[in-house]
Amino acid sequence: MPGHLESIVALQRTLNDLSAAKRQLDGVPEWMQELHEEHQKRKSEIDAVDEAAEQAGKNRRESEAAIADAQQKLEHYQAQVSKISTQREYGALLKEIDTVKQEIGDGEQIVVDSLEKLEVAEKERDRLREEFRDLDERYKTELTKWEAEKPAVAKKVSSLATRESKLREVVPRNIQTLFDRLVQRTDAQALARVAKVTTMRKNSNASWHCTDCHYQVRPQVVVEIRNQGTLVQCESCKRILYIDDAEDPNTPS
Ligand SMILES: [Zn+2]
Repeated sequence: MPGHLESIVALQRTLNDLSAAKRQLDGVPEWMQELHEEHQKRKSEIDAVDEAAEQAGKNRRESEAAIADAQQKLEHYQAQVSKISTQREYGALLKEIDTVKQEIGDGEQIVVDSLEKLEVAEKERDRLREEFRDLDERYKTELTKWEAEKPAVAKKVSSLATRESKLREVVPRNIQTLFDRLVQRTDAQALARVAKVTTMRKNSNASWHCTDCHYQVRPQVVVEIRNQGTLVQCESCKRILYIDDAEDPNTPS
């Protein structure tokens, strides 16, 4: 299948650029990636402390409500003491009173613990927020810059998509099918570059290999690819082989 290799190479490069541009549009550009990650990390630390503070507050409120309930019960039981007539009833009531007193004690301990936790969390939160302020300012500045750049990236995405369909117009259907299948089967790289294997031995013939799987490629095949743009799949990884003179100027011709 001679003649279409150039278009296929251009198509693969277009697809690579397109997916990079789309990724950028969905996330942040490379130049602010590091700051973005740092910002996310610090922010999630603050969120975690916020959550701890909220949980402590919730535990405190729940325990206070439980204490109030238990105290009501205690008053009710204590009012009954004078009305008791048998020793058995008295024993049972004392047991109830002990249980409810235990509940109050436990609840009070939770309230104290929660207050301590809340205080620690609030201090930590203040400290983290203080530290975060500078970073957040820088992040907002970069975000504004990125927002200003976004339309250009969106434009790039649409022009790359146009280029993709234009390239597909000139590539025969069966080759596209092969290409698309390879794209799906591989990590979206249907092509593999052929490169010369450098050897230290003198007078040894040059040998060539697929840079993806390192399987050997016969010199005759290299010549065919180079001179006729023949579509040849690597015998091992099945990717379509191509030659890049810029990267590898020593291919045989
Ligand atoms: Zn290969």
